[in-house]
Amino acid sequence: MTKLLYEGKAKKVFATDKPDHVVQYFKDDATAFNAQKRGTIVDKGVVNNKVASRLFQLLEEQGVQTHFIEQLSDREMLAKKVAIVPIEVVVRNIVAGSLAKRLGLKEGEKIEPVLVEFYYKDDALGDPLITEEHVRLMKLATPSVVEDIKKQARRVNEVLVPFFKERNMVLVDFKLEFGIHHNKLILADEISPDTCRIWDAKTGDVMDKDRFRKDMGKIEEAYQEVLKRVCG
Ligand code: UDP
Repeated sequence: MTKLLYEGKAKKVFATDKPDHVVQYFKDDATAFNAQKRGTIVDKGVVNNKVASRLFQLLEEQGVQTHFIEQLSDREMLAKKVAIVPIEVVVRNIVAGSLAKRLGLKEGEKIEPVLVEFYYKDDALGDPLITEEHVRLMKLATPSVVEDIKKQARRVNEVLVPFFKERNMVLVDFKLEFGIHHNKLILADEISPDTCRIWDAKTGDVMDKDRFRKDMGKIEEAYQEVLKRVCG
């Protein structure tokens, strides 16, 4: 493991001796509101790496192709090198966050059928919500890749919702990123309490990054509890 290829808000990506492989290193740094709020969540990187590794493994078992190869250590994941499609794909089962705020919908209401949204991945613009026509206009992905993204995003949801439910958690919404690997679309990045909204099925307690965003306290405890339920 050598050259740093990229450093983001929560991860570093390193080159390996194989041109086709990279190492994702998960940090404890936390940001919210387009990096206006910054902090540290102790051992977040370990939790996110382990949770993401388990979820990618589960998805692979269920026929979803991902960039995941193996978990190398507490904070490192070996992955296939992809060209990231610059779209953040958000899947929503329950109204929360920006959807509630933007459209005045009531937080906690069930969304049926599931909602898939696209955001343009651009920090300077604050990741704006975009339509498929914007995707076409900006040539972010071809129409067939867009169809593939929507199909795979729904499939990921179908696999993850029951998995979380069996572990007494409600998967409210989550963000996915896809990449192109040898001309094929595969799931990349991470799926973790940083990128999902997860509520305790019994109490409704928030178990994800909203605790950091909203200064709710007990952040580390919540992440550890998600780890326990997902991997324990
Ligand atoms: N999300 C993310 N990265 C982002 C924006 C959102 O991982 O840059 C996740 C977020 O954690 C939530 C879902 O996508 O699970 C939907 O987020 P929303 O649009 O409601 O935005 P927020 O309220 O987080 O600003």
